[in-house]
Amino acid sequence: MTHPLLDLAPLSAAHFASIEDRVARLLRTEQDVVITQGEALLPLEGAIRATAGPGTTALNVITGPYGQTFGDWLRDCGATVIDLPVPFHTAVTAEQVRGAFAEHPEIDFVSLVHAEAATGNTNPVAEIGEVVRAHGALFYLDAVASIGAEPVLPDAWGVDLCVIGAQKAMGGPAGVSAVSVSERAWARMAANPRAPRRSYLSLLDWKERWIDGGRKALLHAPAQLEMLALEACVERIEAVGLEEVMARHASAAAATRAGALALGGGLEPYVREAADAAPVATTLRVPSGTVAADLVARALAADPALPLAAGGGALAEEMIRVNHYGPDATPGAVRASLAALGTALAAEGLTVDVEAALNAVEKAWR
Ligand SMILES: *Cc1c(COP(=O)(O)O)cnc(C)c1O
Repeated sequence: MTHPLLDLAPLSAAHFASIEDRVARLLRTEQDVVITQGEALLPLEGAIRATAGPGTTALNVITGPYGQTFGDWLRDCGATVIDLPVPFHTAVTAEQVRGAFAEHPEIDFVSLVHAEAATGNTNPVAEIGEVVRAHGALFYLDAVASIGAEPVLPDAWGVDLCVIGAQKAMGGPAGVSAVSVSERAWARMAANPRAPRRSYLSLLDWKERWIDGGRKALLHAPAQLEMLALEACVERIEAVGLEEVMARHASAAAATRAGALALGGGLEPYVREAADAAPVATTLRVPSGTVAADLVARALAADPALPLAAGGGALAEEMIRVNHYGPDATPGAVRASLAALGTALAAEGLTVDVEAALNAVEKAWR
């Protein structure tokens, strides 16, 4: 008996290339797109190790946990790292980036996370890209949590390395990812003696053996399940329309924010300005005297399917994440999440107005 997940024909090089082309269209990019067969950490790490070395001075913007990780990799590569930490309840500004260049004109690499699902903020990449480009630095962007939720335009923004994953707003699989690479970034890698070569982390291997060879021969057997799932997920986005998918995420974020404020009980948007809040996920600050992880546990005990999580690490005390992305970018998921949080807050003796929250969701959904 054949099994739909097991008895698959091998994925051809032509099919693999066609999936890359589809992802390139999603990113509106003319740059090379390399699909990487692993979770997004694979290209995120591979791109840093390929382009950074002892001669690099990197400006590393930290707006959440991923920025922290990038700084560690950069230092590990021997780069001089200038960290620009920004409080998690806000976004970085182009002015702050401009200031960092003024203070350290030797900066030749900038790492930035576009949207942070873990902290709920989003950064003005277009404006920052102008500053980075004016100084000629290489621009590395983690767009894993923004792709599908808001515009991601590496060519228009001057992004040299743009990493995406399918598992957030694209509503796809977690085991496959992609990176768009500019000519400048390839040149930087080729000139870097420490760039990984003949390694699973190597982007240069893909350049030399796959792209430069006309995409005729794959480096190793492709991960069929993940590739087919990625193709299906991009196909679904194309069918619905990327604009429509992004609009759903924007609505979910606006509705969650409005609903949380109307709910009361001391629940507040974690990201103070709506303009800094990411469409992919909304973070909420819990009232003093309550513990976010406990409220989430109570809500999930009532309905384990809700897209709720407590913040990671120390944020588990004070932050609730409403992960309204992918299949959960719906009014139903937002309503159910707020109603469950209302019940959990009421159980702690706080006064909430679930009816008002649901009305606010209705009104804010565009
Ligand atoms: C989700 C996410 C990733 C991918 O990491 P996972 O936790 O493994 O899903 C990378 N970068 C950002 C900004 C993310 O939000």
